[in-house]
Amino acid sequence: MKTELHTEWSVKDICEGFVYNELEGKGLFGMNGKLTIQPEYQRNYIYADGKKDVAVIDSVLKGYPIGLIYFNRREDGQLEVLDGQQRITSLGRFVTSKFAIVDNGTPQYFRGISKDKQDKILNTKLLIYVCEGTESEIKEWFKTINIVGVPLNHQEVLNAIYSGTFVTLAKEEFSNSTNSNINKWSSYISGVVNRQEYLECALYWVSKGNIEDYMSMHRHDTNINELKTYFNSVIDWVDGLFDEVYTEMKSIDWGRLYELYHKQPYNKQEVNKAVADLYADEFVKNKKGIFEYVLGGSTDSKLLEVRIFEERDKKTVYARQTKEAQEKGISNCPLCALGNDNNKNRIWQIKEMDADHVTAWSKGGATDISNCQMLCKTHNRAKGNK
Ligand SMILES: [Zn+2]
Repeated sequence: MKTELHTEWSVKDICEGFVYNELEGKGLFGMNGKLTIQPEYQRNYIYADGKKDVAVIDSVLKGYPIGLIYFNRREDGQLEVLDGQQRITSLGRFVTSKFAIVDNGTPQYFRGISKDKQDKILNTKLLIYVCEGTESEIKEWFKTINIVGVPLNHQEVLNAIYSGTFVTLAKEEFSNSTNSNINKWSSYISGVVNRQEYLECALYWVSKGNIEDYMSMHRHDTNINELKTYFNSVIDWVDGLFDEVYTEMKSIDWGRLYELYHKQPYNKQEVNKAVADLYADEFVKNKKGIFEYVLGGSTDSKLLEVRIFEERDKKTVYARQTKEAQEKGISNCPLCALGNDNNKNRIWQIKEMDADHVTAWSKGGATDISNCQMLCKTHNRAKGNK
């Protein structure tokens, strides 16, 4: 049996020449007659309750995915909808103005909504799998992808679509809970082994995020050497560099950091000390960012979301600086006061100033009132960029 994923068909393509039978309540054809929406044996349209059909349109307008749709290609080339009749019929009925949605507080038919919303609906691309095979093959496949009660996740669907020697070998390695490496891997990967999340991670890393292309390209390979070698290189690099295992390590895209930094030499002791110090630093809000911060040379403090000064501290410091400046007849921005231009005795308003660490946070300066000064926005920006 053959399956192919189509991501290029838009709502407009599918609803071209949409035919709806009002008496029977059935969507009959789309794609200019090439698509049979409701083959005789399928159940009738049950979304026409003013809620589910409206929800389909709302989802599309908000850019939410409306899920996978499955077509079957018959021997004569005609396409039939296997799963997705309800959604397609809702879309077809709406774009032919058969029912209204509430827009800006009033019910609106398709012809009445704004052009940009019409375009948004028409240009939305659907995710459609087309399969081709004997009836029993299709039934068997459909049963596999619709295990009752447990919807397949994305990787499980991909495993079904690209089933073959490569997936079989890859699952033996990465989806096998008796693999003795799982314990080590679980320090750096989150998820459940038998829901294919480790496999997904390994594929994500080796493919730099293009899992589908990778699976399609390697579908008939009789080994998984590249996948395995790359995965082990990433894990060994992380495992070799860091002495301690921190919870946040599980949610890091190590594949990306490996690509960026694995060719750089590091002093292991220094790296581990820096990480431990930052973990102990109460001003670091984003612990997950610590690893990338340290690997990148401890410069990009945005990654750490360092805690900022409290509003009330800023007000206190502003009041004190301003009072002192007014007494001396100089600017309340200490850096402006040192200068020789028009701003040297300018009194800035608090909204024109920002709080600055006197001793930089990265040099051990605390984020509290004892280490806070107010600078005009220009000077604060200039200092921050150094
Ligand atoms: Zn200034």
